[in-house]
Amino acid sequence: MSSDANTPVLRNCIRLPLAEDELLEVTAKAKDYAIMHGAAMRSKTAFSPDSLNFAPFVLVPSSFPRKEFEKAVALQPIINRLMHNVAHDEEFITTTLAETIKVDEFTANLFNIYRKVLAHGFTQKTSLGMLRSDLMLESACPELSPRALRTAAGEDGGQDAGAAVGQIAGAVGAAGVGTAAGTGSKEKEEQKEHREVQLSRATKEPERRATGAQSAYCCWKQVEINTIASGFGHLGPASKTIQRFVLSELGHADKLHNMPDNNALAGLCNGMVKAWDIYAKPQAVILFIIEDVSYNICDQRFHEFYIRETYPHIKVLRRTLTEVHREGKLGQSKELLLGSQEVAVIYFRAGYEPGHYHSQAEWDARYLMETSLAIKCPSIHYHLAGTKKVQQALAQPAVLERFINDPEEIKAVGKIFTGLYSLDDNEAGNASYEMALRTPERFVLKPQREGGGNNVYGVDIPDALKRMSRVERSAWILMDLIHPPLTKGYMVRPGGDMPPQIVDMVSELGIFGVVIGDAEHIVHNYQAGHMLRTKLSTANEGGVAAGLGALDSPYLIDSDDEDEQK
Ligand code: ADP
Ligand code: MG
Repeated sequence: MSSDANTPVLRNCIRLPLAEDELLEVTAKAKDYAIMHGAAMRSKTAFSPDSLNFAPFVLVPSSFPRKEFEKAVALQPIINRLMHNVAHDEEFITTTLAETIKVDEFTANLFNIYRKVLAHGFTQKTSLGMLRSDLMLESACPELSPRALRTAAGEDGGQDAGAAVGQIAGAVGAAGVGTAAGTGSKEKEEQKEHREVQLSRATKEPERRATGAQSAYCCWKQVEINTIASGFGHLGPASKTIQRFVLSELGHADKLHNMPDNNALAGLCNGMVKAWDIYAKPQAVILFIIEDVSYNICDQRFHEFYIRETYPHIKVLRRTLTEVHREGKLGQSKELLLGSQEVAVIYFRAGYEPGHYHSQAEWDARYLMETSLAIKCPSIHYHLAGTKKVQQALAQPAVLERFINDPEEIKAVGKIFTGLYSLDDNEAGNASYEMALRTPERFVLKPQREGGGNNVYGVDIPDALKRMSRVERSAWILMDLIHPPLTKGYMVRPGGDMPPQIVDMVSELGIFGVVIGDAEHIVHNYQAGHMLRTKLSTANEGGVAAGLGALDSPYLIDSDDEDEQK
């Protein structure tokens, strides 16, 4: 959907296609390897709690520019802090969601819990944030494209491309020292960037054709930030395990050093354990809130097993919202009790979509947990901070200054946002509405929902918008479509073609972050691994459980590499 004939293609980590007999053999082996290493899911079509299918995966890792990967990793603690500060800004959350909650019942229900908790004061001041910032490379982005910048320099009077790259790297580098302190207004910069995008699009393809080169230079843009049920802490690292095996089987063990370490499972589980330590009651348990049926079971059980094996003294329970309503109550100090067991930490892997709340009982359970002493991941304010509406508000000029002090950090975070537009019933919202009707192919329309399958893309947008009243539009935001570069490879799915065919794909990288603290202090803040999901370039969305996406992991490439396809 977001690719066309001009979309650049990232070079592959190995030369494809593979010979058919080799492909058949390695694919069959990789499928078994995936099942036997827990890169698996329950079947939706033939569900049985007693069996697993391997999760769809890409046979060899997809390329990703090293600099951009490193930038995303380095930026995560800043994003963690940003989201922590946003979650604790009552005024910002209230104002930002004011119009949305008038028309979006689900967000309104969450907000009502927030309001009630605020009125009584937070019983537990500490929150556990386990975030995932999702991003895509933007092939039309000028920021790290030396060619585009060179062209732009000619137009704009000599900006130095190398210096521009240095500024971005500096802003997120370990020392956090950049060379440029906010020259000119953001608005001006945006106009200039827009011009550069145009220039980049106009110049990129003929030049690429002429040189035969595939530029690995793409900046990235944030797709969304997740503050609830950020999945793939296990499947992220598991994807690397499969692809490492495949590359070795194919005789490319020498390339494994370009697959970055991924300790997402440990990073996330240790986050829960750090929160458990803060709660400081040796008998208290960690509670996972789960759906009625967990298809993505490996990505939950491996968390549980990691905790049980690494910290055998900490017990883990799994309950649905309905079960918490039935069994849960508050003790004298508002501790959450399930029967006689006290809960220290609640990890929500459900509760992010209306379908998880079958009746008022589930909402009551959520409220009960929110008012309890247990440390929540996420607490209600963290959940609200992760709404699409808040993401849209954060992308507006000058808003970041409210949450981040360092000008270089503001600049670095500001650059990750692509255009995000309000559809509230006011002048700006109405202008976005008109813009969407005029050029729908530039946009994606998003409601306040998580979990995939809710967005409206491109040419479908006008009809969707016209069906809404002016106020109903405030439940949605509009976002510029990102145009990721293509990779070519084999996607392997249960019941799929054998041998698989080479297909055009695009990837979405997720960077995990853990942040723990209260309104005044952050006590833990770290980046916690990554995950890569890859989908057919023709698909709008790439949910792996939904059946369109596939597990993948990044193969880091450098812009100045020689052709690696040996
Ligand atoms: P959800 O909360 O449902 O996961 P997302 O905002 O992540 O919502 O959108 C779902 C999927 O839609 C993403 O994983 C991505 O594949 C695609 N998508 C979302 N926003 C964009 C965008 N701006 N440009 C291109 N694709 C997008
Ligand atoms: Mg998403």
